[in-house]
Amino acid sequence: MPPPNPPSDPPIPSSILILGAGVFGLSTALSLSHHPSFRSTRLTLVDRFATPHAATSSVDSSRLVRADYADPAYAALGAAANAFWKGSEWGADGRYRQSGLCLLAEKGGGRGEGYVRGSLENVTRGKREREREREGEGVRVLDGREEVRRFYEGSLGGDVGEWGYVNWESGWVDAEKVMRWARKRVEDEGRVECLTGEVTELLYTGDGARMLGAKLASGEEVRAELTVVAMGAWSGRVVDLRGRASATGQILAYVDLNEEQQRKFANVPVPLNLTRGMFVVPSSQGHLKIARHGFGYANPVRIPHPDPRKRRQADGITVSLPRTTIEDPGFWAPREAEQACRETLRRMVPELAERPFSKTRLCWYCDTPKGDYLITYHPDFEGLFLATGGSGHGFKMLPVLGDKIVDCVLRQPPEEFKHKWCWSDSQPEDFLWTDDASRGGPQGMILDAEMKKGSKL
Ligand SMILES: Cc1cc2nc3c(=O)[nH]c(=O)nc-3n(C[C@H](O)[C@H](O)[C@H](O)COP(=O)(O)OP(=O)(O)OC[C@H]3O[C@@H](n4cnc5c(N)ncnc54)[C@H](O)[C@@H]3O)c2cc1C
Repeated sequence: MPPPNPPSDPPIPSSILILGAGVFGLSTALSLSHHPSFRSTRLTLVDRFATPHAATSSVDSSRLVRADYADPAYAALGAAANAFWKGSEWGADGRYRQSGLCLLAEKGGGRGEGYVRGSLENVTRGKREREREREGEGVRVLDGREEVRRFYEGSLGGDVGEWGYVNWESGWVDAEKVMRWARKRVEDEGRVECLTGEVTELLYTGDGARMLGAKLASGEEVRAELTVVAMGAWSGRVVDLRGRASATGQILAYVDLNEEQQRKFANVPVPLNLTRGMFVVPSSQGHLKIARHGFGYANPVRIPHPDPRKRRQADGITVSLPRTTIEDPGFWAPREAEQACRETLRRMVPELAERPFSKTRLCWYCDTPKGDYLITYHPDFEGLFLATGGSGHGFKMLPVLGDKIVDCVLRQPPEEFKHKWCWSDSQPEDFLWTDDASRGGPQGMILDAEMKKGSKL
């Protein structure tokens, strides 16, 4: 008889429950279902929605795909993901478009300039200085407002920034299509049981020390040896993440394009101006999208303490959680946000300057203090793992993220991320503002206060 397998370290759980089927949850489910160590593990995925839903962070007409990061570790991860979008089924059937990305800042040492410099260094590292731009590849520096203006002459036609570079190897994906495809893949493979239900709380042993699973709004309890919380910006509803992760609402506005404009803008590089915090995705799903990559709005709400041991002592805690069209079907952007989008349109795409917005939306980042993901075991509860903290840049990593998450589940976090994705010391602040040097626009805005100032210009 062959000797039994030696016990693995850490022991492999007999069952894993993943809460949330966004980028973090789906990628975890996919990687676990292929990993030999988990071939006997029962895998369950729960989401509030049976199919990817428009109010969640992973669903939209576009998400940027780039290796353009000032931090070399994320630049390398982005480059690894990029290879999948370009060269595999991940990006097939029109899901990925290699339009190029123009990363820009205003000169003078303001916000964003250092990030653009760092990013340029990372994407050109190992290549000859200012390697020549060829059709569809390479990096080209754009120095001065006039050179940038000439670059966009005949397409966007406006002032997108003063200095930066275009990286022809970056682009964007149709995030909605990708999520539908990835979800179907998980379902078709048949390894993961997919349940639909709203998680209302986590289940603990009587002493509160061990995680048992989750309770759904229907009253059903779903149990597992390991629970992975991947509920994106909603994660703070079931785990006390104060000071570590917090929901911030980011504005998006859309204008419809006619067919001629869709053709004209189809392959125009996305301009992302980090000083202004604004960017435009020229053409996806029949519209042009204006977005702010900023500090966002906090939406503080009072909730019962998620830790059962503290629930009776305190009258709850304040955390920032998303407010979406689910709670507010008639949502329209606060005036301040609509103004920022309108100014961006007038400046970057004068041809569409006064075209009405067909839709506005708040999309919620799960923000962490420095913009690092939060992928780690919870130190206080056995059997609880966190896979969240996308901080506005998680989507592009989808093809490679699940494997990294599984490495962390196996307590082998990637060396370059082990101090970034861990459970760090922090003050339990009600909400936080990410400072990763990539954010622009106003800081410290509370959603309710901005809504009270008015909406609809
Ligand atoms: C405006 C905006 C622009 C962005 N741009 C980019 C970009 O250009 N490039 C990039 O790489 N990244 C970008 N991102 C970031 C990226 O989209 C996110 O990091 C990523 O999608 C987050 O995935 P997630 O799985 O953490 O969250 P989500 O996609 O929000 O998934 C969370 C899931 O949990 C479920 N859930 C929540 N509460 C419950 C509950 N109580 N019970 C059951 N299920 C629940 C939700 O239904 C949802 O499916 C952007 C994000 C936003 C908001």
